[in-house]
Amino acid sequence: MKNFAYVRATSVQDALQRSSTNTEAMYIAGGTNLVDRLKVFLDRPAQLIDVSRLELKRIERTGNGLKIGALVTNTDLADYPDVRRDYPMLSRAILAGASQQIRNVATVGGNLLQRTRCPYYYDTAFPCNKRQPGSGCPAVTGINRMHAIFGASDQCVAVHPSDMCVALAALDAVVEVDGSRGKRQIPFVDFHRLPGNTPQRDTNLEPEELITSLILPPLPMAKAGVYLKLRDRASYAFALISVAAALEVSGGKIGKARLAMGGVAHKPWRLVEAEKFLVDQPAEAATFQQAAELALQEAKPLADNGFKVEMSKRAIRRALAVSAKGGGLV
Ligand code: SF4
Repeated sequence: MKNFAYVRATSVQDALQRSSTNTEAMYIAGGTNLVDRLKVFLDRPAQLIDVSRLELKRIERTGNGLKIGALVTNTDLADYPDVRRDYPMLSRAILAGASQQIRNVATVGGNLLQRTRCPYYYDTAFPCNKRQPGSGCPAVTGINRMHAIFGASDQCVAVHPSDMCVALAALDAVVEVDGSRGKRQIPFVDFHRLPGNTPQRDTNLEPEELITSLILPPLPMAKAGVYLKLRDRASYAFALISVAAALEVSGGKIGKARLAMGGVAHKPWRLVEAEKFLVDQPAEAATFQQAAELALQEAKPLADNGFKVEMSKRAIRRALAVSAKGGGLV
């Protein structure tokens, strides 16, 4: 770990001002991913700006929905009664990630900013375009069982590791940020980026911008939402693939659909075409099968991860079937 200066921000404006005057500064809150990266020299900030004591820890009802402060811990968000009742897929997605100890410390804002767990990225004996642009991507021809089947480029085939973010993409969340040019809102599906020619950039945040809150818009159908995560072992493992699904069903017919996947792309992967197909269809197995086929038709698996295609289809069918019956555990 490289030595760094430590300062504790006293307000959002103080944090922004410190960040804008030091291009080598980074924010730290829970630090559950950042400290790991610091230890192996993936990040070498000259200064860490501790934002963990800022007044961004509240969850409140607003006219736009549920407003969640960026420093709410993953545990507190998963346990929040309104989230458990109105957005159960979000609660279950959070509880499917990491461990209780990590969730107790990890923050909502930090969850959005965690970086890929591609093993080549963490092993500095290998080149990696995300770590050092232009150096190469050994995962393209190397071990790529955990990597992307959608949206990858020849520069990077990594996947986004978060469970929580998959649910947030399905729920049409909005990210509120503050920066030297003022506050702005970013639709969740536009927050993370595909790798393209700039795999070093995971998000559309500007350098000094700070996430201040998330907005969860009202979505009655979310009460029937489900989250299904498939992984190599039952706990403390990243997703091979995951599905967040919610259906609004009336008289046996689907009125609205939300569908997103994790573990398949460099960002939470919203399945818009499959959602459109589901509208006005009968809520039955044949419909779910067709939606799953449609959802995976653009998949481009790598040498080691072709299994993700069939696994994804089965998971989508199962998640949709459970949501059509009102939701619950899958
Ligand atoms: Fe690096 Fe991305 Fe390639 Fe992994 S997939 S080695 S993160 S460039």
